[in-house]
Amino acid sequence: MKKLAMYVFIDALGWEIFQRYGFLEKLAPNSRKLKTTFGFSSAADPSILTGRYPDEHLHWSSFYYDPENSPFRGMQLLAKLPPRIFDRWRVRHNLSKIIRRVHSYTGYFQLYSVPFAYLPYFDYLEKKDYFVPGGILATDTIFDWCVNHQIPYYCSNWRHSEEQILLENKKIISEGQAEFIYVYLPKLDGVMHNHGPFSDETQSKLKYLEEQTTKLYQFASSIYDEVSLYVISDHGMAPVTGSHDLKRDIEALGFKYGLDYVAFYDSTMARFWWLNKEAESAIMDLLRSLDYGYIVSTEELKRLRVYFPHRKFGDVYFLMNEGFLINPSYMGLSEIPGMHGYHPDAPHSYSLMLSNRDIPEEIESITDIRKTMENELAK
Ligand SMILES: [Zn+2]
Repeated sequence: MKKLAMYVFIDALGWEIFQRYGFLEKLAPNSRKLKTTFGFSSAADPSILTGRYPDEHLHWSSFYYDPENSPFRGMQLLAKLPPRIFDRWRVRHNLSKIIRRVHSYTGYFQLYSVPFAYLPYFDYLEKKDYFVPGGILATDTIFDWCVNHQIPYYCSNWRHSEEQILLENKKIISEGQAEFIYVYLPKLDGVMHNHGPFSDETQSKLKYLEEQTTKLYQFASSIYDEVSLYVISDHGMAPVTGSHDLKRDIEALGFKYGLDYVAFYDSTMARFWWLNKEAESAIMDLLRSLDYGYIVSTEELKRLRVYFPHRKFGDVYFLMNEGFLINPSYMGLSEIPGMHGYHPDAPHSYSLMLSNRDIPEEIESITDIRKTMENELAK
């Protein structure tokens, strides 16, 4: 009896998108709304693979404060070069590649729009590819678990295109050896960032993904006696309804970056490190006066399982209300119609699980996905 557990990961296929457009109802009639983790994919993806929260696997925001060990020291010189050629996306993309090579990073690395002048205050979290087994995260991943239990598995190479990934998975299935495959489909996320979650482009992308998943499942069913199909995602996507130039408002207070405070502007969140009391109290007063977001309390950080005893990720986090962007931010310089990274309780944050198997009642968070994997593989 040959069995396959096929997990199809679709980036940003949230519960609200599923409610609007549906997805694969015939093949995977069981569905569950799953709570995501607070933060971005750098926190959510490890939470899926480890079955743990960020305060356990320790992966949260990509850029963290560490001026002593910053791999970007010296890069502030690029900020002085005229004209702003180094700020073009293509140039930054190629520069990211060079940095990746110089430091032998195997994880996902992008400079995004972090100003060169401020890069030396930060270090980067995702230096190693945690999809590869070998104890890269603080707690083990499902792939480490497979290695330890001698379960033959295949995990897609996230560097490849979706078309390539689908072909590579098909080839693995045709060999009939793997008991678990992780089909990684990342492109829906970009479509929804650029066109909005509720758009014709989203709908046609979903149709494509539905067709491809169906084909792969049918092919697997011709090779294996039994195929358990699970469609999972890391988070949803909210329609953007407005943006605010928080950076400008902070800078208008007149404090000096690097001397009085350090800030990192993610698209939905600003993180601050205080270097003196005056800056702290003035910036905190400003943040408290804003109606488009709020300061996340320590109690809430603990409740959301993203509280860390060190200050590397920030002394204070200011989170935007769902639908609002910080723009410009260190993640991008233009307002885009779709974004995630809001509070996990915000309506469009929820992720999902779809399956042709019963989904047990206790599966309610992306950190529970791993339990279903272990159950499938223990049978
Ligand atoms: Zn995204």
